[in-house]
Amino acid sequence: MPELPEVETIANGVHRRIHGDVIRSTWFSSFKQPFKTPRDAMASALAGRRIDRVRRVGKHIVFDLADLLSRKTPSHSAQWLVHLGMTGRLLVTAPDAPLAPHTHAVLDLASGRQLRFIDPRRFGRLALVQDFSGPGHEPLAISPGDFAALFRGRKLAIKAALLNQSLLQGVGNIYADESLFRARIRPTRPAGRLTRPRLDRLRLALRAVLRAAIRAGGSSVSDYVDADGSEGFFQIQHCVYGREGEPCRVCGTPIRRIVLAGRGTHFCPHCQR
Ligand SMILES: [Zn+2]
Repeated sequence: MPELPEVETIANGVHRRIHGDVIRSTWFSSFKQPFKTPRDAMASALAGRRIDRVRRVGKHIVFDLADLLSRKTPSHSAQWLVHLGMTGRLLVTAPDAPLAPHTHAVLDLASGRQLRFIDPRRFGRLALVQDFSGPGHEPLAISPGDFAALFRGRKLAIKAALLNQSLLQGVGNIYADESLFRARIRPTRPAGRLTRPRLDRLRLALRAVLRAAIRAGGSSVSDYVDADGSEGFFQIQHCVYGREGEPCRVCGTPIRRIVLAGRGTHFCPHCQR
């Protein structure tokens, strides 16, 4: 499943290629599953719109659309929302490129290219929305005070709190484990019991880990394709994730793996308290 850095990388890649382009027409597959908005409504709302910006909100890709027919200053209230689910991909391609199996949406652009959405497992979602801001706070933008307030009074483990999308949106399993290691916090600690200095450390660690992964082009353990269709993701060097039994990079203690909130959770029993 793509995590925040992958989604950010894809959103930026799609933005670079197609912002300013106009959607001429659309085609959608007959499957019911990826479409949160009926495909007729989606088709008529998308046609004629200019794609002003493509950006990440949580783990969603948001297309800000301007209405070319309106004489007023284009409003950004109309948005096309793409969630990649487990296996979703966006491709910007020439129209004569062969249609991949499991293609569910094709947008014809005025520049002559196509934007395609491909999703073999169909956990992805496409929808029309307005003023989408997502369920939780942005981990890259949240202030120290707001971050600390998220966890106040919460009895659940800090790892589970980090994964709760209504608190912070877009933090997945890999980056939760990696940021807790860097902040030297045991994943099982009750979130509400962490002191403010430890929470400040965690906020900075989370931001640093996410930014490093974005710089590296996202990291993923599943096979992954960039907006170009080129294989394009490097792994950041994980300190704990996927390293059960291997020596901690700081102290040499074997990394432990437990299951917490249903997810494999990796930590150093010596460095993380
Ligand atoms: Zn260690």
